[in-house]
Amino acid sequence: LTRLYGPLTALSNVRVDVMSALVSFDRVFEVLDLKPGIAEKPDATPIPAGTGRIEFRDVRFRYPSADEVSLATLEDVVTLDRRENETVLDGLGFTVEPGQMVALVGPSGAGKSTTSMLVSRVYDVTSGAVLIGGVDVRDATLESLRDTVGVVTQDSHLFHETIAENLRYARPGATEEQMWAALEGAQVAGLVRALPDGLDTVVGERGYRFSGGEKQRIAIARLLIKQPSIVILDEATAHLDSESEAAVQRALAEALRGRTALVIAHRLSTIREADQILVLDHGRIVERGRHDDLVAAGGLYAELYRTQFAVSPPRYEGEVEIVTV
Ligand code: ATP
Repeated sequence: LTRLYGPLTALSNVRVDVMSALVSFDRVFEVLDLKPGIAEKPDATPIPAGTGRIEFRDVRFRYPSADEVSLATLEDVVTLDRRENETVLDGLGFTVEPGQMVALVGPSGAGKSTTSMLVSRVYDVTSGAVLIGGVDVRDATLESLRDTVGVVTQDSHLFHETIAENLRYARPGATEEQMWAALEGAQVAGLVRALPDGLDTVVGERGYRFSGGEKQRIAIARLLIKQPSIVILDEATAHLDSESEAAVQRALAEALRGRTALVIAHRLSTIREADQILVLDHGRIVERGRHDDLVAAGGLYAELYRTQFAVSPPRYEGEVEIVTV
């Protein structure tokens, strides 16, 4: 293991890039020709199309420790860097009904990102189960899981390819009309239309350098074109000026409309609107309910509300990635 460690550490930048892409876009494995650690069962069943119900049943989770991983994938490699064997989620039980928006809040390290990653099956539960439309995600076909769940993190990874190609990853065979409709909904059509190469504009270092807010909106367009019935959203908004932030908020509102949403929420406006707020602390749900009731209860939520959410306008330090190394 020690012999492997040096070269692996040298890969660290690649890892961060690969992993953040994985979270927002699991087809990266096809692009890089890597095998994800999560396999499909031979008798896997599809999640019924259009289903919007998420259920966590007594979910416990700890990140795999070094002796449990085979070093077969980059995903495994990432876990080696982290603390081992700690229980990160300790008996989570909740249901998100179709069309509901549930907000996850809690102190840093409480387990919000980990919870969200179990829905799209970046990791599997250690015990208990996560069900979508009544199907345990471990029994679901990966294709149906990918079609059902869309993820928007604020670390919006785009490929160094054209805008059209970036959109087609989400929906192969998408027509130009569908692409424009998605860009329109994501509040970025005007910008793309004004570029000399339009949809054929190459994104990235050696192409057109979109701002953080613009990239986020293209990532949201990718979600809109895919039309998943469930959206997992990490709401933090870093480094955006107020105009850009307003556009991102409008795009997100469009992305969430009519869908089931599990949101790692940082904005008071989102939290107030949530059908249910789950307050996580040390991997447990310590409080749940709606905003007014939780404020009145005077517990951890009331404290978070006073110290974080009531502070306006919200600004955040640095970009937060769901998986960091
Ligand atoms: P934040 O608000 O800071 O993003 P969070 O509530 O989303 O925090 P998680 O990122 O889910 O919390 O982390 C929960 C716990 O799991 C933390 O103790 C964290 O250090 C640990 N953890 C996160 N990722 C890994 C990993 N890949 N390997 C091992 N432990 C991890």
